[in-house]
Amino acid sequence: MKRNLLIIMVLLAAVSCRLEDEVRTGPLHIVTTTGIIADVTKQIVGDSADVSSLMGPGVDPHLYKQTPADIDLLNEADVIITNGLHLEGKMAELLDKLGKEKPVLKVSDGIAKNKLIKSSDFEDSYDPHIWFDPILWSEGFNYITKKLCEIDSNATLYYQNNYETFNREIANVNAWILDELVQLNDSSKVLITSHDAFSYFGRCYQLEVKGIQGISTLSEVGLKDLADLVDFVIARKIRSIFVETSTSDKTAQSIVDGAKDKGYVLQLDGPLYSDALGEAEEPAGTYFGMLRVNVEKIKNGLK
Ligand SMILES: [Zn+2]
Repeated sequence: MKRNLLIIMVLLAAVSCRLEDEVRTGPLHIVTTTGIIADVTKQIVGDSADVSSLMGPGVDPHLYKQTPADIDLLNEADVIITNGLHLEGKMAELLDKLGKEKPVLKVSDGIAKNKLIKSSDFEDSYDPHIWFDPILWSEGFNYITKKLCEIDSNATLYYQNNYETFNREIANVNAWILDELVQLNDSSKVLITSHDAFSYFGRCYQLEVKGIQGISTLSEVGLKDLADLVDFVIARKIRSIFVETSTSDKTAQSIVDGAKDKGYVLQLDGPLYSDALGEAEEPAGTYFGMLRVNVEKIKNGLK
């Protein structure tokens, strides 16, 4: 009797395994817009899902428009993860359309509106560069993790554990940045960059921040704004301003030239990683690496 029961149980287990195999359709295929989002998503999903990013190192997301190959990738994806807040401004129409067919998640949807910085570029809009506040970015990925658990419920525990590991590293990196930047004098805590990507960073780590271009790289810089910035740099005795890997150096160079015309030597420093990671094999090829490399460059440039 007992033996018969055992045989039945073994048979039932075999059938249920086969059913599970038939339901499983292989690893989840996730496509992200930026490389920064892809890197953190990989930390959450580990080897349970394939993650690919549309934008590689040095690519400016404000200006990026999908290629035909991107459209194929997006059509084949099970899940798409974006930043939102108009970062991917030129892809908005396509992403809205895809959102009617499959999950298109926005990291920014996981962050309460009152924690976001308002943007002066458009009415009722917010600064999209949320990854420069590591704690906020982690809140956004807490939301993404919950959504991925709903979509891929077999991997829930694995995703949650990976998120907890990521969140612990967020706390470590945040503490390290505070330690590094506390070494700067208050008078030298002024960060001037090619475009206005560092407002969240400035709010977190008490740096005064100015972007030569606006929040989006689409905006033009007026001659008067440039002249005002040259006067500001000289009045505040600022040593360095910073270029970025994903934007042009032209406007930053014109500040250096303007200062030189007035007899002031201003250093062109960087490049900082603002909206894109470095190459995969470089230290700035990951989200945490990019934060660390930026902080070293800012600290050395401003001290
Ligand atoms: Zn930007």
